[in-house]
Amino acid sequence: MSPIDDLPPLREVIRRHGLIAKKSLGQNFLFDLNRTDRIARAAGPLDGVSVVEIGPGPGGLTRALLANGARRVIAVERDQRAISALEEISERYPGRLTVIAGDALTADPRPHLDGAPARVVANLPYNIATPLLIAWLTTEPWPPWYDQLVLMFQREVAERIAAVPGSKSYGRLSVLASWRCEAKLLFDIAASAFVPPPKVTSTLLRLVPRAAPLACDADILQRVTAAAFGQRRKMLRQSLRSLGADPLALLDVAKLDPTARAEDITVEGFVALARALADIGRV
Ligand code: SAM
Repeated sequence: MSPIDDLPPLREVIRRHGLIAKKSLGQNFLFDLNRTDRIARAAGPLDGVSVVEIGPGPGGLTRALLANGARRVIAVERDQRAISALEEISERYPGRLTVIAGDALTADPRPHLDGAPARVVANLPYNIATPLLIAWLTTEPWPPWYDQLVLMFQREVAERIAAVPGSKSYGRLSVLASWRCEAKLLFDIAASAFVPPPKVTSTLLRLVPRAAPLACDADILQRVTAAAFGQRRKMLRQSLRSLGADPLALLDVAKLDPTARAEDITVEGFVALARALADIGRV
């Protein structure tokens, strides 16, 4: 018997369903149910919560989420082989697992939620982790449909998301994430824990939505950070030229030092710049 339920060990599930990992689908599976249990507990308490899981694969994390009391798991998976492997879990937890067969970049889990608190918990496919995160961070209306994002990233990406001004990792993702959420690095998982092992260490990250982020248009904010960090070693008076508005006028309205560089600017500063760009009417 496995530590968390009476379903077969994941290695057996993989073998029965011919679920050999495909690199093109970012498949690095966690077989150790003690580890998936640790992730589920970090995302908890889960009682009464509907969890949206991206990429359940053979279902190690799915099982841990259900065993830890998630009211329901709505899992989005692209690989048909994994979908048949998940059927056994559906039978073990009747009415609590819904599998959406499709691409997480386009599938919308919201119609499957029924008013209970919703949380996204996933060991993400790393090839689409950043676009998925950006979609969750820029969703409208805000506060969003989820109460937390608890996500596994490559450590370097997790550090970029949670980075603060003045650090080397601080960049576009840090600004967007910190504008709308509070980020916390939870713990690392060694590459050797995955099958096959990825080249890098992974880190679990929690993002909790801010109730009232500074008012700002997400697209304009991203244009400003793309310009500023696109030439991160240059002063803002130079790097912001690509925005098509007079950088000195923008910096004046935003009350920022024209000789500062992107990595010195706080989220409040970038929001002020985005508002200035909108006001100057070049967007
Ligand atoms: N959750 C499992 C685990 O922890 O062992 C698997 C995680 S594996 C890193 C990523 C999973 O995402 C795989 O099952 C893969 O098939 C799935 N996946 C990859 N691209 C996807 C996409 N565009 N939409 C939905 N699922 C995807």
